[in-house]
Amino acid sequence: MKNIIFIAPPAAGKGTQSNLLKEKYGYVHISTGDMLREVIASGSTLGMEVKNIIDKGELVSDELIINLIKDKLATLDGKPFILDGFPRTLNQAVALNKILKDDSYEVIYLDITEEEAVKRIEGRVSCSCGKTYNLNDEGLKPKVNDICDVCGNKLVKRDDDNVEAFKVRFEIFLSNIEPLINFYKSKNKFNVIDVNKDLNEKFKEISRIVAND
Ligand code: AMP
Repeated sequence: MKNIIFIAPPAAGKGTQSNLLKEKYGYVHISTGDMLREVIASGSTLGMEVKNIIDKGELVSDELIINLIKDKLATLDGKPFILDGFPRTLNQAVALNKILKDDSYEVIYLDITEEEAVKRIEGRVSCSCGKTYNLNDEGLKPKVNDICDVCGNKLVKRDDDNVEAFKVRFEIFLSNIEPLINFYKSKNKFNVIDVNKDLNEKFKEISRIVAND
């Protein structure tokens, strides 16, 4: 089973696919957005600085995020992992390449238009347990309004899931994506999944790429 690097604009479905892969294959799901939200929840001065950046839709520094990832990967003990939200810049990709000891990974690029992503952002809600839902998608709605199917907690909307912050996030994504794509194409690690396909079809395609399933 190969490690997975998800590269995609906001709301392309990285979190949903990560949860499915985690359930079926036991991947460790590493979401840098979740890690940063934990830093915010700690209430530290750094947390307040990070919140300010995230709420505007901007990126935290490469240095901060690379250090967080380096520490996290060092705890995995060889377990297969999914990187969700990292790398987002060429600098981060180059740093990751130095940290990884082998090339047992595949990049999965979830291709989505800005229009479709805005629609998803508007309907996206999540639970503190990490499960995400989408009120604009019949297949991704919770069974009971506002309540998590898994743990029964109340679902909440992320502070940065508003159209204004989303536009900044999408623009930043586009401005960084080309060098990232070229970097992974040159290593023969780049795989594109069309997000308009059915959820299970996408999952099967990804499974074939990373687990020969
Ligand atoms: P996400 O949950 O992946 O949408 O990330 C939420 C926010 O966290 C992003 O909009 C960025 O502000 C920040 N963030 C997450 N991952 C990174 C990263 N690799 N580099 C810089 N900022 C990041």
